[in-house]
Amino acid sequence: MHHKSLSELSLSLHNGEFSSVELTQHYLDRIKTYNGKLNAYITVSEDSALAQAQAADLQLQKNTAGKLTGIPLAHKDIFCTQGILTSCGSKMLDNFISPYNATVVEKINAAGMVTLGKTNMDEFAMGSSNETSFYGAVKNPWDNNRVPGGSSGGSAATIAARLAPIATGTDTGGSIRQPASLCNLTGLKPTYGRISRYGMIAFASSLDQAGPIANSAEDAALLLNEMAGFDERDSTSVDRDVPDYTATLNDSLAGLKIGLPTEFFDEGLDPNIAATIETAIKAYESLGATIKEITLPNTGLAVPTYYVVAPAECSSNLSRMDGVRFGHRCDDPKDLLDLYQRSRGEGFGEEVKRRIMIGTYALSAGYYDAYYLKAQQCRRLISDDFQQAFKDIDVIMGPTAPTTAFKLGDKTDDPVAMYLADIYTISTNLAGLPGMSIPAGFVDGLPVGLQLIGNYFDEAKLLNIAHRYQQMTDWHQQMPAAYK
Ligand code: GLN
Repeated sequence: MHHKSLSELSLSLHNGEFSSVELTQHYLDRIKTYNGKLNAYITVSEDSALAQAQAADLQLQKNTAGKLTGIPLAHKDIFCTQGILTSCGSKMLDNFISPYNATVVEKINAAGMVTLGKTNMDEFAMGSSNETSFYGAVKNPWDNNRVPGGSSGGSAATIAARLAPIATGTDTGGSIRQPASLCNLTGLKPTYGRISRYGMIAFASSLDQAGPIANSAEDAALLLNEMAGFDERDSTSVDRDVPDYTATLNDSLAGLKIGLPTEFFDEGLDPNIAATIETAIKAYESLGATIKEITLPNTGLAVPTYYVVAPAECSSNLSRMDGVRFGHRCDDPKDLLDLYQRSRGEGFGEEVKRRIMIGTYALSAGYYDAYYLKAQQCRRLISDDFQQAFKDIDVIMGPTAPTTAFKLGDKTDDPVAMYLADIYTISTNLAGLPGMSIPAGFVDGLPVGLQLIGNYFDEAKLLNIAHRYQQMTDWHQQMPAAYK
């Protein structure tokens, strides 16, 4: 069952080949077998999953089921799920049972899908390796000594090991695309505003966006159909029609103009990854695409700009975690200040504290103009680079990450080295553009992701470009041997 695509699962469920309860139980069994080693799930919601599966089976019997009814999935533990622990990978929320569902969860529930559980993640989505989680690191199914990427590392490991057919993730600076790259998956970060952020615990509100982590572009398109859309509860969600993202998957790529930014193929890129990406791009030429070298001259500003904007916004967003209304509260506070200080001191991990300190500093009187305002100006330069490039080309391609999956512990003592893991993904978030990572080959047995970046609301085009490649290659079908 766990080798099937979402369309195949849907067909089997509708044909009565197996029931949603059987399918859900199959995944729950796999989770029992493998999760101990991978640590991909923080919470497995077995009882509610089986109840949702039963309800789905009734719909299937009554012929009122939709395309995804009865198909299980996993949610990154950043999405509020009513009645189920929503920890955001933090001790701060280790006791937080959300009283409501995120819009994404609500929409996916309405589609009849079954929530298997909540996946591990870097604390408050801050990290590139899943090592900042209060619940411990996640192992990469391709090599258990290596990281799965982050911050959606639990979702990525879950899909790579087939402990769910598809998962949600979020991407503030690369957290869907980089783990997809490191785990041989298809991950899509849509345009900022395409998916509601309501009920998705905020890290950096002007950058955060949810998206699918899947085994193929077709699967990602199916889940995006359910996730996307305007939500009056999120003032940054865009009121714009949601196309059927599966309808254009097979469109011809003849005449497609691909831009390759020189800055994405610099000396920081592992030469074997560069060679793998070049081979993938040749495949697009055989599909009728033409290649053009482009330049995104302000790419070098992306990481420093992000590490002002994201911490600034997180320092503000995380101020609500004060030990008063919800989350961790210290024992026997002396007074209000002691309550704040100790609750936050005990509840947050090291990386989160580092970000809060940097962000608070950048926003403080006298420094705001020098840091936050300057970063916003750099952000505009970065977006302008993209708009200049899109005058002549349809899509940008390059590597998703500068290296394959690195060893656990390798970068934990060097935050800047860790920050550079997102060097090719961060500018997309700063500009609010959609980006995708798709499997493009292996270097020394470890997956390599090809990144596609589109113009605003080009999700359908990106999925089409990814799907055509997946029809002529089988990289995305490769599975880690131990989890077949
Ligand atoms: N790795 C980046 C960070 O640590 C991006 C994380 C993300 O996209 N959530 O902030």
